[in-house]
Amino acid sequence: MLVVGITGTLGAGKGTVVEMLKEKGFVHYSARDYIRKRVQAMGLKPDRDTFTMVANAAREKEGGDFIAKGLLEQANKDGKNCIIESIRNVKEVEYLKKHCNFVLLCVDADIKIRYSRIIKRDSETDNVDFDTFVADEQREMSPTDENKQNLGLVIRMADYTIDNSKDLDNLKQQVDKIYSCLPLRHRLTWDEYFLEVVKTVAKRATCDRGRSGCVIVKDKQILVTGYVGSPTGLPHCDDVGHLFKKTINEEGEISTHCVRTVHAEQNAICQAAKRGIALEGATLYCTMTPCRVCAMMIINCGIKRVVCLNKYHSGQESEEMFNQAGIQLDFVSEEVVKYDHQ
Ligand SMILES: [Zn+2]
Ligand SMILES: [Zn+2]
Repeated sequence: MLVVGITGTLGAGKGTVVEMLKEKGFVHYSARDYIRKRVQAMGLKPDRDTFTMVANAAREKEGGDFIAKGLLEQANKDGKNCIIESIRNVKEVEYLKKHCNFVLLCVDADIKIRYSRIIKRDSETDNVDFDTFVADEQREMSPTDENKQNLGLVIRMADYTIDNSKDLDNLKQQVDKIYSCLPLRHRLTWDEYFLEVVKTVAKRATCDRGRSGCVIVKDKQILVTGYVGSPTGLPHCDDVGHLFKKTINEEGEISTHCVRTVHAEQNAICQAAKRGIALEGATLYCTMTPCRVCAMMIINCGIKRVVCLNKYHSGQESEEMFNQAGIQLDFVSEEVVKYDHQ
């Protein structure tokens, strides 16, 4: 899925560009409609002042990127290439760049031409003289509170800029040219591909203390997989409950662990042993930083690289061991996982 964010100046023709992209199959999500729905849900009068008031209050409470978050959530549910219009806040651009396959498109035009377009629209709110129009725009362009809109900065972040100072044919040509360059389909990298498999494997795990999965790969081929679960033939935590044991560390802190299960990494390694598959030089993909025992086994199997979806809260010892053993350790997310009541 590709998300095209649209930004740009007043009267530049953002709406026309949106229509052109819709003809090419893009779904349209509008920031204005998003606010309108909120205003309606609150039972307030849907006018411009109320929109501004509700949007400002939400920015204060939920952050400057709340519209982008809401619209991307909707887009992810629909799963189609889409347009998010319009982007007016730096935090929105940052959020979208981080969380999806995103391109920012800016629509601009000569200010006199834009002013004449606005006057022709003949809408009450747009009925201002040229000097006021210029002054209003300059105010919008200059930095203010980081949660508020800052059009000037957003425009400078655009990947593509359209100059819509000429006619409709010229605009169409520019849109077609940009469309031909868009990354419409994101092909998974090898790491993303194997980590998606890890997520699926983890769904068969039988201990809800941490439904972990593991995939061991060599030369871009999966050798073995494993998930957290009891030894074959023994009852599972999901059926009979956990088997807790307390551990006291050298600082005297007591932590509680479920010991009923064989860890995902260990199960993958056992599968290799059972089938006589060498793991030397392989890469191990897993849900979070392997524990101390798993880390030691991984090192001695000759595995050369470990890729984790998340960090485990007390994974420092394993990280240190991998470092000493010369194993490359990569994390997809810096999110730290901690179990409850440990
Ligand atoms: Zn358990
Ligand atoms: Zn482990």
